[in-house]
Amino acid sequence: MNFGAAFGRIAIMAALLLPVAGPQSPAEAGSGLDWRADVTPRPEGSRRRRHHRVMVDLPKPPFAIDRRLLPHDRGVRAYGEPYLGPIIDIELHLNTRGHRDTSLAELGEIAAGLRASGVEKALFMPTPNEGRRRRNEKRRRHRKLLAEIGGKSIGLMCCGHYVGQWLHQAYYDTYTEESLDRLLTRLAADLDSGLYAGVGEIALYHFDKNGRQAIIRYPPNFEPFLKVVGLVASRGLWLLLHAESIDPKGVSYEDQVFGGIELIYRRHPDLKLIIAHTATTNPDNLRRMLERYPNLMADFKLVKRVANWHHTEPVSNADRRLHEDWARLFEAMPRRFMVGTDSKFFRRRFDVAKYQRKIARYRKVLGGLKPRAARLIAYENAKRILSPGGDAK
Ligand SMILES: [Zn+2]
Repeated sequence: MNFGAAFGRIAIMAALLLPVAGPQSPAEAGSGLDWRADVTPRPEGSRRRRHHRVMVDLPKPPFAIDRRLLPHDRGVRAYGEPYLGPIIDIELHLNTRGHRDTSLAELGEIAAGLRASGVEKALFMPTPNEGRRRRNEKRRRHRKLLAEIGGKSIGLMCCGHYVGQWLHQAYYDTYTEESLDRLLTRLAADLDSGLYAGVGEIALYHFDKNGRQAIIRYPPNFEPFLKVVGLVASRGLWLLLHAESIDPKGVSYEDQVFGGIELIYRRHPDLKLIIAHTATTNPDNLRRMLERYPNLMADFKLVKRVANWHHTEPVSNADRRLHEDWARLFEAMPRRFMVGTDSKFFRRRFDVAKYQRKIARYRKVLGGLKPRAARLIAYENAKRILSPGGDAK
């Protein structure tokens, strides 16, 4: 063998083994990297950092998974007389990126519109993909301004954008111990600031549902993810997690998601976890999760574009009427569900008038439930869990 060629090969192998620093901030995460590569991410598997295993053993799902995808034309619960009590909406976003010169007046209109809808409190947070873009700090500033304008009626969750992006990138590109330390230090500072109810919306599996979304995908047994979860658990704050268990092509991640939730709760039985969008699975699976994990809560959203969301088991049909099986689960476990409209102000001209129409529809849906369940789901559960020391129980 040619000596020079052999040496070259060794150099290439050494370069492959060398860790590459992960992103240090969302601003850096957005620069110089081809995020389009994420459209077809490399397969999941065993990852190592140099001499260090970074994958934890994933337990098997602790229950028999119901792997059916339910038909959208199944039975629905009729609307009732609108629920007229107070509402707390625990999942909203501000999408001011494509919106020029967001003014204090516009933010004031949002706060006033929420109040006029009878939404006593609204929890704003970044979307999982927010950290992809440069200049995403703008939205964080706008959320803070909104909270200042809205006072007690606006709550905030933080960090989901930079944490989720860091994890996704670290999983596919590797990372250094120092960059992980920087991430955890930044997260700890945010959590200890007293400004936030917790961390959200963070994504494990976030697929492309409308042809325009960037994909976030890493398994829950990736050690840095578990460190993030442990940090949130240590502070007694809430984690709002988006984890799709089936992708739009029908590929199942159910073993990873359900095994991952089991892994998280084995390590942190007291973790306060909100699983977004009714866990994007069918009511049988969510019921089993809620029975098994007493600190787990779920938020629900009415989905209009069921074609985009077909693999995520929306609770509603395209007319935004609640499927009967979901209505029954809501009534059977009324202390475990909350309203999370997932509204994105300023995106595609979504404004206060549209939000008010949306809330009117939620009131009709809630009105179809037993009154006690409706009040818990609309208001009391969120009030309880967001109060100091509040939990699912
Ligand atoms: Zn989500």
